[in-house]
Amino acid sequence: MATATMSEIELQKEIFDKISNNDTIGLKTLLSSFKVKIQCVDEHGMSPLQYACFKGNKEIAQMLLDQGADVNFCQHEHAYTALHFGALSGDADLCNLLMSHGAKITSKNSVGRTAAQMAAFVGNHSCVSVINNYIPIADIDYYIKPQGLRTEPMLPPHLADSFHKFIMQVNVHPVRIAMTLQKCLGLVDNLEKIHKVLESMRQREMTRGADTNEVMAFKYHYLSCVVQEVIKCQKLLEARKNDNNLQNDKIKTTDPIEFFIRKLLKHNSKNDIKTLNFKPEYQELFLRETVREFPFRESTIFRQMVATLAGTDPPSASSVVSAAINGQRAFVELSQMCVTCGEDKANKKCSKCKAVQYCDRECQRLHWFLHKKECTRLEQPSIVQTNNTKIIDADDKIKIADAIKHEIDNLTIK
Ligand SMILES: [Zn+2]
Ligand SMILES: [Zn+2]
Repeated sequence: MATATMSEIELQKEIFDKISNNDTIGLKTLLSSFKVKIQCVDEHGMSPLQYACFKGNKEIAQMLLDQGADVNFCQHEHAYTALHFGALSGDADLCNLLMSHGAKITSKNSVGRTAAQMAAFVGNHSCVSVINNYIPIADIDYYIKPQGLRTEPMLPPHLADSFHKFIMQVNVHPVRIAMTLQKCLGLVDNLEKIHKVLESMRQREMTRGADTNEVMAFKYHYLSCVVQEVIKCQKLLEARKNDNNLQNDKIKTTDPIEFFIRKLLKHNSKNDIKTLNFKPEYQELFLRETVREFPFRESTIFRQMVATLAGTDPPSASSVVSAAINGQRAFVELSQMCVTCGEDKANKKCSKCKAVQYCDRECQRLHWFLHKKECTRLEQPSIVQTNNTKIIDADDKIKIADAIKHEIDNLTIK
């Protein structure tokens, strides 16, 4: 067989050719028939893994990682790592794969840019978000074991997965964070512990020397502020039970997270929900306070947020915080944003007025206490005037039933 005598150089060329042609099967055969040095480089100092990432081929990248390719191996002439190439390719799943194999997110190329910064530069926002929000599970391991003189871990081990999910969330709208907090099992019952762990993680991110990550430090800080606010709501509701004066509070719910979400959503009527300048008053105040309380005042992220918020006619604090964590987006498609949680591409509309959109029924339900006052006003005349019998689909029926149930809930809660 001619191939059996292939020299090492020929073999390496063959590997790069197969990757170049996205020939997954050919590469697989090649790798299984020869003892291949997987850490070889081409004339630009690019390894096969870096090249596969440059091509945005996740399948080949996976194959090379399975063969033992070092995810952080870098001899590239401009110091682009596999993650830099993955981020530039625009494939968020590929970035996830590399990070789950230990790719360093703080590595910089020869012009001092990280992978996330390069992704932002070319407008690959999903990659920016995925990289900026990635947290290795090992970071949590530390907290589920007793450290130093402690007899108990800071985080009960059974909460590790829930907590990991909570801190990795990409949508950092405060309402969405509160919703996730509720969905991640066990967290609501351990708020004080979660709060302490988040504060400790914030500190750790800022004391990692060359790997210091201020974006992550700010995110932990922000999440800890949300948790603290929910604890405050919990205490307030507790006090309200026993105090007649507090029972007149306008927000009628006994669930602390729901109470917090309603506070976040409330706004005065002049503050128009359909404009880019929409700033629910309490939400704005809470987020500005969160930024102000970030203890690392020398950090770039702190200075930038403060400068933006202090400018004339500043954007909403929610968009400033979100941009700081997930990178600036060039266009915000207001018409596709969930009015409850700020999620992108929310495509369910209020079936009555068709003027507001939500991710799902849960977001609609949470917004109903406000929207019920506006729904009729927002209803478009053309719809009111049609004489056709309105066709109500199953989804609408559920929405209506939900709305009614919600009304009843409000009436019966003490
Ligand atoms: Zn939503
Ligand atoms: Zn409506």
